[in-house]
Amino acid sequence: MAYTVPTLTDYSTAALEKAGGECIAACTAEATEVRSDLDLKSFRDRWIGRKNGVLTQVNDLWLKPAPKEAKREAGMRVNEIRTAIADIIDKAEHLRLELSTAAIESVDISLPGIRRPIGAEHPVIKTMHEIIGVFQRLGYSVAEGPVVETDYYNFEALNFPPNHPARDTQDTLFIAGQQAKPQRERLLLRTHTSPVQIRTMEKMRPPIRIVIPGTVHRNDPPDASHSPMFHQIEGLAVDKNITFGDLKGTLDHAMKALFGSSVKTHFRPSFFPFTEPSAELYVTCFICGGSGKRGADPCRPCKQTGWIEVLGCGMVDPNVFEFVKDNGYDPKTVSGFAFGMGVDRLALLKYGVDDLQYFFQGDVRFLEQFG
Ligand SMILES: [Zn+2]
Repeated sequence: MAYTVPTLTDYSTAALEKAGGECIAACTAEATEVRSDLDLKSFRDRWIGRKNGVLTQVNDLWLKPAPKEAKREAGMRVNEIRTAIADIIDKAEHLRLELSTAAIESVDISLPGIRRPIGAEHPVIKTMHEIIGVFQRLGYSVAEGPVVETDYYNFEALNFPPNHPARDTQDTLFIAGQQAKPQRERLLLRTHTSPVQIRTMEKMRPPIRIVIPGTVHRNDPPDASHSPMFHQIEGLAVDKNITFGDLKGTLDHAMKALFGSSVKTHFRPSFFPFTEPSAELYVTCFICGGSGKRGADPCRPCKQTGWIEVLGCGMVDPNVFEFVKDNGYDPKTVSGFAFGMGVDRLALLKYGVDDLQYFFQGDVRFLEQFG
């Protein structure tokens, strides 16, 4: 029901205050109903129209007939109402102006649309996801760990004792200012994803099957086949009675899933501090099919041998289990295998790219070829 100005019989302070409050509240409520310029005009006319606006009526019905002794207070009250109504109308006008401007902007259909380029997975990340997917389908879960590691997790617990010559092969980037700390607590950029093997075995009791993807760092100047930052995927399976036969079967299946069912696998003896025995896994070259030739030309990726080295692997060294023995990894009762591969190199081979640096320069013209 629309507000009408009542006649006043009681001119006490309380009555004037109540009547004034009701009038202002009605005006505030009606302001929220303004939806168009036309609404705004009738709202203004209804409240401050000279001839019969609410404010004129308040003047006529409250101020003019007020008894002499209440005149002053009634006058003050009417002035308050006038100011309040002027404010409300002012706000309604501003709001109307803002809304009408915004509407003009949003319905201008003559402007051309903004075409946003569709993103795609980076070839290295795509390769990484493919490898993870193969192992996930074999029941492996994904584990991750910190890139800034302690000497203990990166070396010592993986059977690289202090001063062991195998540490020299890793060209480690150390964090500065650590000399005051004991060696095992000093921080470095992890040189492989293997520390996560120890971290996971500290948290989870056997049996475990995990793959560990991530970035690693070494002090290698960037060139066509080296980068100070690169990606690895590591795998670890520990249970009772795991044998080298399980390692061979698992990796043979994984290579066929990744490179096609016709590839053959081949293991050659190798050395890693944290596995014993250790091996390098070769697959028949998926570029020349193992022939070593591409037409009349020699096949460069496999150096004409017909074989490509894809990863390092081996049975977990019992010395590594000693570091997590208290969590159920007694080397007398459990055994396991581990493997690790460089994702970037596999992506280079897979996509026929001849320079590793292209992957990390962020050149969209290069990257969009893989979209
Ligand atoms: Zn080849």
